[in-house]
Amino acid sequence: MRRDFSSFLVSKETMMCQELPLVDFVDGLLDAESRATVATHLRECRKCAALAKTLRETRELLQQAEPVEVSQQFEQQLETRLRRDDLKREGLKLLALGLAAVAALLRLFLARLGSGRTSAASAPSDKKADK
Ligand SMILES: [Zn+2]
Repeated sequence: MRRDFSSFLVSKETMMCQELPLVDFVDGLLDAESRATVATHLRECRKCAALAKTLRETRELLQQAEPVEVSQQFEQQLETRLRRDDLKREGLKLLALGLAAVAALLRLFLARLGSGRTSAASAPSDKKADK
């Protein structure tokens, strides 16, 4: 069941940290009023501000990350996990995003490892001249 954010955003003072639509905020999906409400909360709540910063950075990483092959098993396990969590606890998108962040960081890490290895060891010499 999806939650209608507009209903609880009316009562700004009582908005709890866990109700904060941070992911949508970072993704720029909120309307101006909701965005302002979240921004106000972020100014007053260090925890959420830090979380928003992490989300934003993660988002940037995700956008910068080049697609790297991970094992199919890993993908499937991740997907299963995301689905299960999604069914179990709706609204906890942060958990799913956390897993996605781990996956993204892992991909970045693997990409670094991979490119480092190929350029150092067995890269064909024409690979650089390619571009
Ligand atoms: Zn908060």
